[in-house]
Amino acid sequence: MNLLQAKIVEKGQILPGGILKVDSFLNHCMDWEVYKWMGEEFYRLFKDDGVTRILTVEASGIGIAAVAAQSFHLPAVFARKTEGKNMDSDIFSTQVRSYTRDREYKITVSKSHILPSDRVLLLDDFLANGQALMGLYSIVQDAGATLVGCGIAIEKSFQPGGALMRSKGVRVESLAVIKEMTENGIAFE
Ligand code: 5GP
Repeated sequence: MNLLQAKIVEKGQILPGGILKVDSFLNHCMDWEVYKWMGEEFYRLFKDDGVTRILTVEASGIGIAAVAAQSFHLPAVFARKTEGKNMDSDIFSTQVRSYTRDREYKITVSKSHILPSDRVLLLDDFLANGQALMGLYSIVQDAGATLVGCGIAIEKSFQPGGALMRSKGVRVESLAVIKEMTENGIAFE
């Protein structure tokens, strides 16, 4: 069992609707050791793929992208869910359905932060139905950039997102893949 899997078993809480609460080490309180390890793992997995930029979506992806950026020595960009007055007007945008909130929201990335020459690694905390990743993927495509692959902290393989992305030929590497979560416990692939 790796470090992330061990933390999930030790501290994860299973909520109704197939949601895993990991606030005590990933989504609210961030465990530096887990974060550092995740950054290093994503580097180990994608270091030979010519990545030039890391892309995630706020808020939970930001910490993961930031630690990975340190390992890669690359910039990390996060798609915004809110449009502020300080945001560039020249943006890529798309609609995403939120898994945990069950509503649609718009994500935006300034065109100046993804270039056609970029080789992009997408990172996120969870992969459930794949809506967040599909939204980020469509921004990479709009930018004319190349998608190298996706790095996910926790993939729930009993939900369809991983199969959806892989069916599009996208490389998905997940650090912990949960195949089953019941009151009896959590089973990994
Ligand atoms: P998807 O777009 O793949 O359906 O869902 C991914 C997004 O929903 C992630 O960015 C994450 O924020 C949230 N999410 C999905 N499943 C879970 C879960 O089991 N626990 C938590 N905490 N967030 C989740």
